[in-house]
Amino acid sequence: MTLRRIRGLVAIFLIILSGCSHKTRKVSPGKFSINDFSRLNKTPINKIATPSSYEELQSIIQDAQSNGLKISIAGTRHSQGGHAFYPNAIVISLKKLNKVIDFDAEKKLITIQTGITWKEIQEYLHPHQLAVKIMQFANLFTVGGALSVNCNGIDPSFGPLIESIRSIKILLANGSIATASRSINPELFSLAIGGYGLFGIILEATIEVVEDSLYKRQTSLIPLTKYANEIQKIAHDPEVGFHLSFLTLTTGGRKLFGDVAVFNFKKYNATHFSNRQHKTKRKLFHQKFVALQKIGINVWAHSRLVKALHWIPEGLKHGQVVSRNNIMRPPASHLYVELSKETNLLQEYFIPVNNLVPFISELESITTKLHINLMHVALRFIPQNTESYLSYTKTDRIGIVLFFNQKMTPEGNRKTKQWTKYLINTAARLKGAHYLPIQLHANKNEVLKVYPEIDNFFELKKKYDSRELFMNHFYKKYVN
Ligand SMILES: Cc1cc2nc3c(=O)[nH]c(=O)nc-3n(C[C@H](O)[C@H](O)[C@H](O)COP(=O)(O)OP(=O)(O)OC[C@H]3O[C@@H](n4cnc5c(N)ncnc54)[C@H](O)[C@@H]3O)c2cc1C
Repeated sequence: MTLRRIRGLVAIFLIILSGCSHKTRKVSPGKFSINDFSRLNKTPINKIATPSSYEELQSIIQDAQSNGLKISIAGTRHSQGGHAFYPNAIVISLKKLNKVIDFDAEKKLITIQTGITWKEIQEYLHPHQLAVKIMQFANLFTVGGALSVNCNGIDPSFGPLIESIRSIKILLANGSIATASRSINPELFSLAIGGYGLFGIILEATIEVVEDSLYKRQTSLIPLTKYANEIQKIAHDPEVGFHLSFLTLTTGGRKLFGDVAVFNFKKYNATHFSNRQHKTKRKLFHQKFVALQKIGINVWAHSRLVKALHWIPEGLKHGQVVSRNNIMRPPASHLYVELSKETNLLQEYFIPVNNLVPFISELESITTKLHINLMHVALRFIPQNTESYLSYTKTDRIGIVLFFNQKMTPEGNRKTKQWTKYLINTAARLKGAHYLPIQLHANKNEVLKVYPEIDNFFELKKKYDSRELFMNHFYKKYVN
């Protein structure tokens, strides 16, 4: 390693140690500011409230109504467009409302308070040899945040999260608590799940869980065109429990993308395993050395070679037997990086399977043209589901997840905006959609092209919340 490189690494390490976080900061007496995963949305707020009972929550709502204040609801703030806060609002964090309310191992149902994280649920289910059915690819998020964006994961048998939800309990703007399910208040059920915290505070959810089965990893490297033909087959193969792919990046030259590294997890019949082997395989994985891995992420962001090779460690796990719980808790805490001059962001696009190749081709040319620092392109399959009012899976879709690095400067923001708008319009032209919990670069017309029902969604918000108590940047930007 050259001296220059060592100096670079040391500099990155020092920046991390001195970096700022997306936690709430007191800026002057009585004044707070808040930010999110992007660190590009610093917003002054009234305060953060962390109630520990529903009565306390109800009295916060009452106080806010009497004092003309707005309320926003925050999970772990991984949405990147200020979805969880609003200027001068009271931000409610449900982190103390994170209990398991009811659990029926036979019926495979768990009822939780929504301040709980998937990680906490996994730890609860693990001794019962059960696992979460649908969640994001990682376990960092709250269930409240996951419900409110109607998240998607990497098990191709299931669509977005709403598919696994039996019912929710929600605190409305008038202070009452309602139940919503497919049979009770079905309109509220479809609005609140994927409702970006605009219809009330989801207090509880009853969620279907599944067995903590074992799977065997299989890795292959195939050209994109072949992948586009194969994906339907892979996704509908009952033996495939999980599927994800990385579009590999090249080390240089005209082309940015290489082949697709495909990771399938096939169901594994482990009847020959001893009790000890079962126990070892199911032992929950815990991420270690996060600070060190954060340095790794910074090296990844600035080395084309590392970008090109980073799928290989996953590939080397070919043949490994792994439990559902462990597949659904990959290391991810290190993705939030605290450099003062740059930030890592995530976006997702949902493209009909037949239009995957043209979308990737457009992605390649615009990324190259604008010199966007794209670090990772992951692909997943998400079956159609239109139960949530603002559905992004109106047909079967390939979820294309982009992880990229940008400078925290006006020029960095301008370039990201130009790139994002191009991709949003390309997705719309190819009959797909962009994910809404990303930075709010799209304008109203661009959102309307993909989500034509959004004005009705906002009208219905006013039916449940006529005084617009629940507010966030997302609503403010797109309501008119
Ligand atoms: C590194 C990274 C990886 C990601 N991976 C995936 C992925 O694999 N799949 C995927 O689908 N998405 C993914 N996302 C997006 C992520 O799922 C959403 O941003 C999600 O909302 C994060 O949960 P959170 O707890 O941080 O919610 P927050 O960002 O804090 O909140 C999100 C929304 O939910 C509302 N909300 C929170 N709690 C409640 C509640 N109790 N009642 C009502 N409203 C509430 C908030 O007001 C806000 O509008 C990823 C994002 C990042 C940054």
